[in-house]
Amino acid sequence: MAHRLQIRLLTWDVKDTLLRLRHPVGEEYASKARAHGLEVEAASLGQAFRQAYRAQSLSFPNYGLSQGLTSRRWWVDVVLQTFYLAGVRDAQAVTPIAEQLYEDFSKPFTWQVLEGAEATLRECRKRGLRLAVVSNFDRRLEDILMGLGLREYFDFVLTSEASGWPKPDPRIFREALRLAQVEPAVAAHIGDSYPCDYKGARAVGMHSFLVVNPEPLDAAIKDSVSQECLLPSLSHLLPALDHLEVSPL
Ligand SMILES: [Mg+2]
Repeated sequence: MAHRLQIRLLTWDVKDTLLRLRHPVGEEYASKARAHGLEVEAASLGQAFRQAYRAQSLSFPNYGLSQGLTSRRWWVDVVLQTFYLAGVRDAQAVTPIAEQLYEDFSKPFTWQVLEGAEATLRECRKRGLRLAVVSNFDRRLEDILMGLGLREYFDFVLTSEASGWPKPDPRIFREALRLAQVEPAVAAHIGDSYPCDYKGARAVGMHSFLVVNPEPLDAAIKDSVSQECLLPSLSHLLPALDHLEVSPL
């Protein structure tokens, strides 16, 4: 008789796997600025944000926690730098906007649950699977998930801020396995980032599924991820799990 693998734990990425921002970052920043009497173009804020975020992540990885920053300070600095790069050099005028943005990004109205996410989580629980979050996120994540009605599906929420290690660092995945008391061979991770989610989880011996958007896949990713592990939408997860359990990869 063929051996049947029984997956016991699913760990989940959050941003762009279960949730997405309701509006692009540039638009959120521009509308908050407008409410504070500052007119800045959304497109230039969006572009400036990507640049500021990249630079901040390189200089101060994982919210600069090991360099004495807090995640709140880290984010306020990203916003100040974003407006600076978009041509607003008055930090005093931008600080209240940054504080407001920090608060608003912890509120459910800024986020949108992706189609099929809640139904899939519910069905996974019904099957007796244990679920947990493994996310490169800060302390606001619990409140966001709570506000959107998703927190109840998860045994625990492990963020990079709480664990001290961002994905793809193997230690955050090992910490999740330790908390769940589950071996990697019977655990699978679901996420939309090839390096952080897909490769990160596989590096510790977990199974892994990559959520992909409709755009054509990068050739390098296409070649290294088997078809059964690609999820064009979350409704593909349960059939993919069935397949995995019958014929382990
Ligand atoms: Mg993601």
